Amino acid sequence: MTRIDGHTILIGLMAYPIRHSMSPTMHNTAFEALNLNYAYLAFDIDGHQLADGVKAIRTLDMRGSNVSMPNKQAIIPHLDKLDISAKMTGAVNTVVNDDGVLTGYTTDGVGFVNDLKKKGHDVAGKKMLIVGAGGAGIPIAAQSAIEGASDIRIANRKDGHLKKAEEIADSINENSGAVASTFTLEDGEAFKAALAWADIYVDATGVGMKPLEGKALVNDPSWLKEDLVIYDTVYAPRTTKLMEVAKKAGVKNVYNGLGMMVEQGAAAFKLWTGQEMPIDLVEQAMA
Ligand code: NAD
Repeated sequence: MTRIDGHTILIGLMAYPIRHSMSPTMHNTAFEALNLNYAYLAFDIDGHQLADGVKAIRTLDMRGSNVSMPNKQAIIPHLDKLDISAKMTGAVNTVVNDDGVLTGYTTDGVGFVNDLKKKGHDVAGKKMLIVGAGGAGIPIAAQSAIEGASDIRIANRKDGHLKKAEEIADSINENSGAVASTFTLEDGEAFKAALAWADIYVDATGVGMKPLEGKALVNDPSWLKEDLVIYDTVYAPRTTKLMEVAKKAGVKNVYNGLGMMVEQGAAAFKLWTGQEMPIDLVEQAMA
């Protein structure tokens, strides 16, 4: 098959700024490897161009699109349907076009849960501490609840995201069997107690990447128990300060966010093509 021909189906990525994204490499590598006649292209689309961007999905009969900031919430009124992941998080990162019907999904949470599963940890029945209630923390909390986590504590500092932490906790309590609660990060004792209580600790704040590279929310190794599973959503750098502190504490299971990033793409890939993404190959292409 010629890689691009008259039958090639387009999938987009609409965000601004977006030219730095690794998603085009990820998806085009997978299409080529599986001999699928799709092409994935990034488009600089900000808020005021979004309505036209969504119209283009329909007009060009695109199979769908990823969306990122600033469009993750703003796209919702332009879509026809929302999956539970998008309903609970109030955000969309993947649009699927089924014969003109556009459905919004959020695959970041699935990416997190699937990556942890691959690493041998199931969130089902687990006590989770999630710090940060932004674009990463909210879908992680929602999907962990959907997949059966028993208790979820969400911590945020006293900024604009604290309200989002409270809203997702309410949504989890209403829509899933998990018990969710929140506390503020300024309450150091509550943070320390939650670290001692949790089975899985997720840092979804971005502390540890630029401009906060070399910084961590936990600096004292004695706050971390050896059997805690620690997941830092940062993937650049690959080893964050939190991961270094965790190693010093003797924590065995410590992960960065690279796997989540690949798995959220794999989940979108499956929604568009019905096929499993060849993840090992994609990871090599992005190394
Ligand atoms: P965001 O801006 O939407 O949310 C950031 C959250 O962290 C907020 O809750 C904010 O209150 C909190 N926060 C920010 N600075 C803080 C600080 N100094 N101390 C304590 N809390 C702080 O960002 P986001 O999109 O959720 O991204 C967060 C991190 O997750 C980034 O490093 C990003 O690269 C990463 N991320 C990874 C993936 C992946 O697939 N691995 C996906 C999305 C985001």
